[in-house]
Amino acid sequence: MEDKILLKYIDVPDIQKIKVYQKHDGYQGLAKALKKHKPDEIIELVKASGLRGRGGAGFPAGLKWSFVPKDSGKDVYLCCNADEGEPGTFKDRLLMEKNPHQLIEGIAITAYAVNCHQAYIYIRGEFSQAMKVLEQAIAEAYEHNYLGKNILKQGFHLELSLHPGAGSYIAGEETGLLESLEGKRAEPRLKPPFPASVGLFKGPTVINNVETLSNVPHIIMRGPEWFKGFGTEKSTGTKLFCLSGHINKPGVYELPMGIPLKELIFNYGGGIIGGRKLKAVIPGGSSTPVLTADQVDVAMDFESIQAAGSMLGSAGVIVMDETTCMVDALANLTRFYSHESCGQCTPCREGVSWMAKIVRRIEDGKGLEGDLELLLDICDNISFKTLCPMGDAAIGPVVSFITKFRSEFEDHIRQGRCPIEKDKSIKVRG
Ligand code: SF4
Repeated sequence: MEDKILLKYIDVPDIQKIKVYQKHDGYQGLAKALKKHKPDEIIELVKASGLRGRGGAGFPAGLKWSFVPKDSGKDVYLCCNADEGEPGTFKDRLLMEKNPHQLIEGIAITAYAVNCHQAYIYIRGEFSQAMKVLEQAIAEAYEHNYLGKNILKQGFHLELSLHPGAGSYIAGEETGLLESLEGKRAEPRLKPPFPASVGLFKGPTVINNVETLSNVPHIIMRGPEWFKGFGTEKSTGTKLFCLSGHINKPGVYELPMGIPLKELIFNYGGGIIGGRKLKAVIPGGSSTPVLTADQVDVAMDFESIQAAGSMLGSAGVIVMDETTCMVDALANLTRFYSHESCGQCTPCREGVSWMAKIVRRIEDGKGLEGDLELLLDICDNISFKTLCPMGDAAIGPVVSFITKFRSEFEDHIRQGRCPIEKDKSIKVRG
């Protein structure tokens, strides 16, 4: 059985151009959806496929679409979340730069399913190359009547706009994204109401990630049973895994859900750089709890990773070898989250900032007795007490690093210095 869906045509020269994309089944899924299926049938097909959101939360895509009310009398919006900003994650950029029509086709089918006539791609502002490629692809899709009025003469209209992001991590949180798209600061909203009922411009809104939407044409073309042939029972399909850190072959790998983490690192990634020993792995982007070297037999699917105490998240796999100072690594992560807090809620604004300062002082050899208890206490005061998930995202690494590598933190405090021999000759790649 073939093992790729999204990256199958990634190396075809000029696949970004519509003529080449058309020669590789391009827009056949949209034609089939419009000509052979009613919108509700598309939702049922995607539900049956088991496709779950690839942005981090893993919520079933078809189920999310079914929450859009049919009788609200308001315009329905579709927002493609292309604000990829989770450290360690770089797969959506690849999909947009290399195969933009696959995404546009997925957006058009999804819009048809939820009765939407205005869709947006909210793209990270730094992705200038992806923006350029998408602009051209959108123009081509309009020229060929895959977007615009009376698409393929089937009576369906769709406008698609590309909107550059506001340059903050939190603009990738779905309600922060909506605020930004409305021209305001990307400050997340209190939920409920959820975007499916009150979203963009107060209209019902579906928000899906680039990778999620890119799967849709394939499901419509080849059916839910075919899609379920990849992956595990509850985590269907393939997944784009981003490998970075102390790894010989960093990059984006499309593999069936459920592939063992060990295989990903040692077979596909070529093992640890310099032949060193593995020390730790962050499996799903920087906000997911760290795993130790003896946990890498875990399968990379939503359920197995959760059972191992972490999350699949955005599948940004960050590999750390034996020369890594875990205090230093955590200091980097906490500094990032402190910088990215939007400041609306006190536990996140103040707590994450204090965590960053305390971890940094431990790394600098100025840690105090009781600092670890203090850090865990701050985490406790952030957990489930913030407006958006970023509070909990910020504490995930802190709790797991301290729990799994406590002696390393204690050595820093006791010795008043960083005891790890960092090998600066190794260039970390990603
Ligand atoms: Fe802003 Fe942090 Fe509160 Fe989220 S948790 S709304 S990022 S202050």
